[in-house]
Amino acid sequence: MRAVRSSDLVVPALGGALLALLAGLVVGRGSGTGAAVVAGAVVWAAVVAWALRRPLRRMRVARRPLPEPARAWLADHVRLYGGLDRAGRRRFERDVAFALDGLTFEGAGGAEPTDTLCLSVAAGAALLLHGHPDWELPTERTVLFVPDTFDEAYGDEEPGVYDGMVHSQGPIVLSTRAVEEGWAYEDGHNVVLHELAHVFDFDGWEADGVPAFLDPRSADAWVGLMRKEMRRAQRGDGILRSYAASAPAELFAVATEQFFERPARLRRHHAELFDALVAFYNLTPPDEPELDAGDSLMARRWRGEA
Ligand SMILES: [Zn+2]
Repeated sequence: MRAVRSSDLVVPALGGALLALLAGLVVGRGSGTGAAVVAGAVVWAAVVAWALRRPLRRMRVARRPLPEPARAWLADHVRLYGGLDRAGRRRFERDVAFALDGLTFEGAGGAEPTDTLCLSVAAGAALLLHGHPDWELPTERTVLFVPDTFDEAYGDEEPGVYDGMVHSQGPIVLSTRAVEEGWAYEDGHNVVLHELAHVFDFDGWEADGVPAFLDPRSADAWVGLMRKEMRRAQRGDGILRSYAASAPAELFAVATEQFFERPARLRRHHAELFDALVAFYNLTPPDEPELDAGDSLMARRWRGEA
């Protein structure tokens, strides 16, 4: 993410000039050249001032360092951040701050958008965007926290089946329990990364498994790969959970979780998919620690180490 993008300035400057010209022509016809120049200048300045609101806000956000507890949380929970040099960390922290500033956080059903929960979501956005400094989340969204799993109507009368949900329009709904567990264990489940991957995927009304920023020249190969991996997930061949077989969008989202949480395992079992995600995200996440022989993930989770 950038504080100031050239498109933030060039597009409004040119668009404003066009509007200024039109305003000048209209005013000039009745009131003479002097009034036309003034009207044009006022219109241009108004358009540019409106367009500068976001870059100026981001520059203010970028100047404020992320508080130490937030940086400590990132170091404890985001392996990629922990391996970055000073400049990389600074850029990651700035992206976290931009995401915290750009997203709107709300709670429902007794859930509160605590600092840590908000940070947990912003960290996911920074992680997915880290390889592409020019990328943004395609839309700015409201994040709605609910206490636990929920159903289609986000109600809590019945125990639901969803940890997270996002539609092409509307909020990203996240179970606070799932968000906390997603970052606590590197087990290939991370609801924040999953739902944000869907956000990347909404370049129309539907998520189709072909993310918005994918090079169109790669789209056919990408679709073929997603279908092949869906068939594998259906057969239980590999490490992607069977939910990945339900739709290309779910394959992409589930693969994204594995890519950032357990890249070594993904590379070992799904080399082609791993390479495609390296190319898409433009980074190679640091490998997860190898388990000791005879030391299962379940055993480590039981001891609170995994
Ligand atoms: Zn999904």
